[in-house]
Amino acid sequence: MRTVYMDSNATTRVADEVLEDMLPYFCEYYGNPSSMHTFGGQVASKLDEARGRVAALLGALPEEIIFTSCGTESDNSAIMGTLGSYPHKRHIVTTRVEHPAVLSLCKHLAGEGYSVTQLSVDRDGNLDLAELRESLTEDTAIVSIMHANNETGVIFPIEEIGRIVKSRGIVFHTDAVQTAGKIPIDMSGSTVDLLSISGHKFHAPKGVGALYIRKGTKFHSFLIGGHQERGRRGGTESVPMIIGMGKAAELAAEFLEDENVRVRGLRDKLESELLEKAPSAELNGDRERRTPNTTNISFQYVEGEAILLLIDREGICASSGSACTAGSLEPSHVLRAMGLPFTAAHGTVRFSLSRYNTEDEVDYVIEKVPPIIRRLREISPFGREELSKGS
Ligand code: PLP
Repeated sequence: MRTVYMDSNATTRVADEVLEDMLPYFCEYYGNPSSMHTFGGQVASKLDEARGRVAALLGALPEEIIFTSCGTESDNSAIMGTLGSYPHKRHIVTTRVEHPAVLSLCKHLAGEGYSVTQLSVDRDGNLDLAELRESLTEDTAIVSIMHANNETGVIFPIEEIGRIVKSRGIVFHTDAVQTAGKIPIDMSGSTVDLLSISGHKFHAPKGVGALYIRKGTKFHSFLIGGHQERGRRGGTESVPMIIGMGKAAELAAEFLEDENVRVRGLRDKLESELLEKAPSAELNGDRERRTPNTTNISFQYVEGEAILLLIDREGICASSGSACTAGSLEPSHVLRAMGLPFTAAHGTVRFSLSRYNTEDEVDYVIEKVPPIIRRLREISPFGREELSKGS
């Protein structure tokens, strides 16, 4: 059966060029980059090259990049590393729509006695910057606000946010896991102090990430161990993975235009046809301020899980906006925060594309999905009622 992969916000395929660059560093050049000998030194220079490539994608200096094991570690390091640097400050500001890598940590910290403010979003998934301004206090150690949301693709105005946060002398972290390689990021002259990325979202392997730490930013090492990463992250570097992420970063910079023109065009075609052809379909999230590869659509009166199951039978991979919790289907915290009605939040599907998707695949999804939605609505008691009203 044919597979059409449209779940790139969950993970992406490793690019061939990335794998090719990694392979010699498993069995041929397997030295430890911290070793004194030439054999290890060769690996250290390749690591430097990867650091330079990641830095270039972010408009950063190589020494401002530390390698981590994933986006989650980068997020945790940013927050814990800042709290460790300002032990007398006990307040954190974040949003209700962050990834669990930030949100669950903040909930854990609340249990440890920190006070946490979670900013709300409107129906389009946008923040109210006045609420941000009002939330900042003398006690605020860090503001952690994502660059773009993984479910809706909605982009937050991080430079505007950063200006507000920096005017109060507070550290600003952004989770850019869903934007690196999709939209331009330039840390030179930016208001961001700390920025997280994850390799597997832009065609590097799973299990590697990076944290940008602006020069001069106070940072308490989160993973305490050896002197690696200039003492900011202990642990022998995962060399092949980092080399892979370096190559992926180089390719991402080259493909940025493709992402913003061709991939955006495919996403727009998919979105407009599904909104037109499927009954009671609605777009979630700000139409303009979105990553170019993501569309999040609610199909009213049907279950997202049922849609996923049936499209999976046609080989189509996507994600739903609900999660199975204790036997019931809970709409995602993001859609809940946006105030979506129950009937819409339940029938939500996210399609997220990448440079490997083609127009033919988009046409295939446009052909297969609307009849599935119609069929599901016919067997749903609410859906039948609405259909009979001619909606
Ligand atoms: N932050 C965001 C916005 C994400 O989408 C993800 C992964 O889905 C993460 C953090 C976590 O990244 P990782 O899977 O590399 O730990």
